[in-house]
Amino acid sequence: MNVAVVTVGDELLAGRTTNTNATWLCERLTERGATVERVTTVPDRVADIARVVDEYRAEYDAVVVTGGLGPTHDDVTMAGIAAAFGRSLEEHELVLEWLEERGYSRSDLTEGTAELPAGARALHNEEGVAPGAALEGVYALPGVPAEMRAMFEAIATEFTGTRTYRETVVADEPESALLDRLEVLRDRFDVSVGSYPGESVRIEIGSTDESTAAEAAAWLRERVEGPP
Ligand code: ATP
Ligand code: MG
Repeated sequence: MNVAVVTVGDELLAGRTTNTNATWLCERLTERGATVERVTTVPDRVADIARVVDEYRAEYDAVVVTGGLGPTHDDVTMAGIAAAFGRSLEEHELVLEWLEERGYSRSDLTEGTAELPAGARALHNEEGVAPGAALEGVYALPGVPAEMRAMFEAIATEFTGTRTYRETVVADEPESALLDRLEVLRDRFDVSVGSYPGESVRIEIGSTDESTAAEAAAWLRERVEGPP
């Protein structure tokens, strides 16, 4: 299953907040076997959110949007998603009931708190107030990391795919010196190979078959200079 991740927030684009939600979602989706094909950050603007969601819902099996769910003026994600589907925002009865059960009376809630795109399924917020929503493969999750993670875990099983097993080999050699060995590795084994240089070179070997990944990694480990 191919997935796009959309993070919403002016503060992300200005570098005031580190986009840990994107990294966390990519990791969890990949663990589940889904393939993340896009990560896009957009400002808190209805038209920008709507345009990206509309494009991505046509292109990918699922779109996970996070941030901008609250009822304050700068939280416009629900409006953006509703616009992408050409629907209105409607007060969602199940959300009101769920919040009432948790001690929030309807009259105390900030206006708009329980509004979701018409026809959306409500995702309850176990760690906060603002609800999430799911609508035809588009998921809206909160921006607050703890709320986002709890809500994602509640729907995690909706993201599926063939899991890739990964092995890491660290080589204390220049990346350019490794090219021939990496080419032989790819010829001999049915694996994907990624090479990530830093102080040493991290080589990531991936396969849908666990033992193939392990065998390929063992083969390479014997042929590179390991870290001291
Ligand atoms: P609230 O209902 O509290 O307003 P929200 O769903 O509207 O939450 P935002 O207003 O977008 O979420 O963000 C709330 C906080 O969550 C931000 O101040 C920021 O600290 C954090 N946050 C938002 N997006 C991200 C992100 N992509 N990565 C890490 N932290 C984030
Ligand atoms: Mg907010």
